[in-house]
Amino acid sequence: MTRLGAVLAAPDSGKNAKTMKQNRILIIGGVATGAKAAARARRRDPHAEITIVERGRLLSYAGCGMPYYIQGQVRDFHELMSTPVGVIRDGTFFQNVKDIRVLNQTLAEKIDRVRKTVSVVNVASGEKAELAYDKLVLSTGGLPVEPRLEGANLNQVFRLNLPDDALAIREAAEHGQVKRAVLIGGGLIGLETAEALVARGIHVTIVEMLDQLLPAMLDWEVAAFLEKYLRGRGLDIRLRQKVTRLEGDGQGNVQRVHTTAGVIEAQMVLLAIGVRPNVQLAKDAGLTLGPTGALAVNDQLQTNDPDIYAGGDCVECTHLVTGQKVFVPLGSTANKHGHVIGDNVTGGQSTFPGILGTTVFKVLDYNLARTGLTETQARRLGYNVLTALVPGPDRAHYYPTAATLLVKLVADAANGRLLGAQAIGPGDAVKRIDVLATALTFGATIDNLPDLDLGYAPPYSSPVDPLAHAANVLRNKRDGLARALTPQQLKARLDTDDPVVLLDVRTPAERDQMQLHDPRVVWIPLGQLRKRLGELPREREIVCFCKVSQRGFEAQRVLDGEGFAGVKFLDGGLVAWPYPLRAGNNNPERK
Ligand SMILES: Cc1cc2nc3c(=O)[nH]c(=O)nc-3n(C[C@H](O)[C@H](O)[C@H](O)COP(=O)(O)OP(=O)(O)OC[C@H]3O[C@@H](n4cnc5c(N)ncnc54)[C@H](O)[C@@H]3O)c2cc1C
Repeated sequence: MTRLGAVLAAPDSGKNAKTMKQNRILIIGGVATGAKAAARARRRDPHAEITIVERGRLLSYAGCGMPYYIQGQVRDFHELMSTPVGVIRDGTFFQNVKDIRVLNQTLAEKIDRVRKTVSVVNVASGEKAELAYDKLVLSTGGLPVEPRLEGANLNQVFRLNLPDDALAIREAAEHGQVKRAVLIGGGLIGLETAEALVARGIHVTIVEMLDQLLPAMLDWEVAAFLEKYLRGRGLDIRLRQKVTRLEGDGQGNVQRVHTTAGVIEAQMVLLAIGVRPNVQLAKDAGLTLGPTGALAVNDQLQTNDPDIYAGGDCVECTHLVTGQKVFVPLGSTANKHGHVIGDNVTGGQSTFPGILGTTVFKVLDYNLARTGLTETQARRLGYNVLTALVPGPDRAHYYPTAATLLVKLVADAANGRLLGAQAIGPGDAVKRIDVLATALTFGATIDNLPDLDLGYAPPYSSPVDPLAHAANVLRNKRDGLARALTPQQLKARLDTDDPVVLLDVRTPAERDQMQLHDPRVVWIPLGQLRKRLGELPREREIVCFCKVSQRGFEAQRVLDGEGFAGVKFLDGGLVAWPYPLRAGNNNPERK
């Protein structure tokens, strides 16, 4: 526990008269943005008086590593707050190595902008003090959105925000009698925790109110690809269900989760329905909030008070594609903010241009990455979009570690500018999205993407990288060579008595494995198509498909050339088809 009086007395008393003119930098919140801002400020200004006020016991820890601590891959929590050479970043470290004063277990209660002071209280001792600043940094982070839910405070009902949350969840998962857990919310934190609990042998149910997982990050069909995989791995995923209440036993331990569609047994519940900016302190001080409800800052991360800077999960950012303000709380951004603020509170002029919402993470054996706008977001903003949904191997298909990747690209139909991308699967999704994020940052178009000089060797990629392949599909669509239906568009038509013909151009072996079961399917392998054109009705619309729709597209071009009108292919083929398929052995039609 920090003794406020003692700590506050020490620095002033120990310094010479020169220090009276020091720049006093006071930082509220000492995890990602705060610790980074402090360290950067110290590197730039060896004489500044830098103080971090942190409500928690720990500071400068990797919150993003908490799921791996729960899982047990990170054995000791201290590993999440140590330097690469194993030195723990605690108050003593900051004091001795960086000459930064840390007041942990200390809550900032009030900012007086006229007197330029902050009132703080030690949460353990109740001791109060007032700290003066020349430059104030707000890095107060985010808070879990709390649902209004009966039973939300029962035992074994967790949030995952702070180290104590992670410690408690791991303790319960390791030593408790948890056989079944319910995760409320199908977002990043819920899914990463799902992986951790599954690894500990706990049966996981995810309840999500909307009709897809990761609604803020992915388009429906990409999320459905993930959902199919997770169900295959034994997760129980309940979409379009709202949790109505949590029920406990006589000891106050959670026992059941009631939803709009039934009751689920659970000995552990995680509430993970979102994060909101922690801005009350700033709001009370009269600082301006932006349209998202987070703190408004300029590109130097300055609030409406020029002596107060803010960054990380408590502020909103400019979206680099749309120019609009968005709230996307991520550690990647928080760390960059810390650097910029550290510069600017020590006389620098650094700027932070904005974000693309680039997010990457792992769920079991799937890698997931996204950047920019989804198709849904782009359409909502009024863009006329071109999209491509392209599955394929992430490296040379013959190389033993080749794995599937589903890439979705979104571009502006008006000028070909790339708007966003999503990549998912056991393959290397992150490399593709990092390339895309770079391309988006510099305003690339679909014509730029295939020209990028990306490296190629069979263990890493293919001569035409999946990104370039997806961009080529977009170009073919734009140029009128390729015409496609999305899985959702085709499914909607199959659900009616639409007379569309589905032309399956796969090999016999592929068809034996898996089939799209519908009486409107006609099977003609691509190699036989030119000879068997007479079997296809010219008056009906034809949609060609194969495993990934490369041959589906070729079939479309064959039929175009033979004068068939309006032929299309199925975007993404059967690999990206999010609906049930039927195992196709002993097919009597086989030729
Ligand atoms: C489980 C999990 C996994 C994540 N994984 C990823 C990931 O893989 N990639 C990624 O980019 N991001 C990830 N994030 C998000 C990332 O952790 C946050 O974006 C990042 O920590 C935000 O940093 P920050 O400094 O803004 O705020 P925080 O890290 O939240 O720190 C804010 C600190 O301020 C303190 N504080 C608040 N108010 C006061 C006050 N009045 N007085 C004193 N102290 C105060 C709080 O106690 C807190 O410690 C993850 C988050 C979680 C919870």
